[in-house]
Amino acid sequence: MLTALKFPPQMIKLILVCVSSPWFTLSLNGSCFGYFQGQKGIRQGDHMSPLLFTICMEYLSRVLTVVTEKMEFNYHPLCRAMKLSHLCFADDLLMFCRGDIWSIRVILKAFDTFSNASGFEMNYDKSNIHFNGICSTEVDNILRMSGFKEGQLPFKYLGIPISYKRRAIGDCSRLVEKVVAKLRGWGAKKNYLWSASEQFGKTPAVSWESVCSDKRYGGLGIVNSRQWNLAMIGKFTWWLASKSDHLWIKWVDHVYMKSTNWFNVPIHSFIAWMCVKQRLLTKDRLLNFGMIIDGRCELCSSADETHAHLFYQCPFSVRCWCLLQKWLDIQLPGQDIIGWCVNWRCRSLLKTQVLFAAVVALLYIIWQSRNLCRLEHWVRTPTEVIKEVKLLIQQRLQSRRWPSKFQLLIHGLCL
Ligand SMILES: [Zn+2]
Repeated sequence: MLTALKFPPQMIKLILVCVSSPWFTLSLNGSCFGYFQGQKGIRQGDHMSPLLFTICMEYLSRVLTVVTEKMEFNYHPLCRAMKLSHLCFADDLLMFCRGDIWSIRVILKAFDTFSNASGFEMNYDKSNIHFNGICSTEVDNILRMSGFKEGQLPFKYLGIPISYKRRAIGDCSRLVEKVVAKLRGWGAKKNYLWSASEQFGKTPAVSWESVCSDKRYGGLGIVNSRQWNLAMIGKFTWWLASKSDHLWIKWVDHVYMKSTNWFNVPIHSFIAWMCVKQRLLTKDRLLNFGMIIDGRCELCSSADETHAHLFYQCPFSVRCWCLLQKWLDIQLPGQDIIGWCVNWRCRSLLKTQVLFAAVVALLYIIWQSRNLCRLEHWVRTPTEVIKEVKLLIQQRLQSRRWPSKFQLLIHGLCL
């Protein structure tokens, strides 16, 4: 294996000497007694062992890549586009394939080849096979042929439950419990400066922002988890947008985004997303940053411009939502309309799409109207706003291919 990977002969010789000639000594009450020779292999904890292990797994990985190219092998449906057949992490190996006897046979053959070359044996006690969406006869056949035990889903991998379903909050409760337990340990230390639990309730000596700021700026350098999370989301979004060369990014891109270009996401969807995340720079935030002095709403001048006011409570917005409800003939809630839409179920695909597109478009146009008013003192009426919403929806719907029975409906919808 080392020769094939073009390691220099001298190096291979050195490695083999290390592997075949370890001596052991016993340590009793602090002093060492005697020496005896090991049979083969390297000691656990030897710095060389993870490196040699990596080389072995690289060999297995290459064997798997070659055999999965074969005609008889069928990729797992969600892994086909990326030709993903396996993932290795530390000494764990995850294999994916379509649940048929031919594909499993190809994998077993690869393991055989690997065993013959490396001397490693598969541990059947520690291996499981998981099925989803396969009839019980096929499952029985595969279990009999492969000799694997059937594992149950969800199972845990690196502390995260792996399931075929979308992960629910409950699935992560163990993880949350662990984090909370860890934080409890910290609570005592944290209480020194900052009240970690409600029962302490004292006025903090130092603001949480100062505690979180870098040591260079007089803080304690504790990570602000909310900002950290936001930064991570931003980083992942950037990776997705720039199609960065990460396995996870490629998978999300192929499976969920169907390789669409992130930059083609319409600006109104982006603004609506910012609105849901409450990240738009409304005046209350600008005031906080000390960037303005007048925080009143541009559209009505009768209240402070907060996120809730601008999008849901301002008389201008209320009127717009009213007109939209009348047009769509639907009752909308007075806040978090996007959240409500996500849970809204309707049998008609067209109706669902129109509702979503309309809400997204209106949020965008309210924000646009506010900016026009602020920067160009140009006031739009709610009727004009709704007209524009209809136009945006028409454009959006027409950009997709709909069955002909919908064509007329879409045309009529926006008149
Ligand atoms: Zn207002």
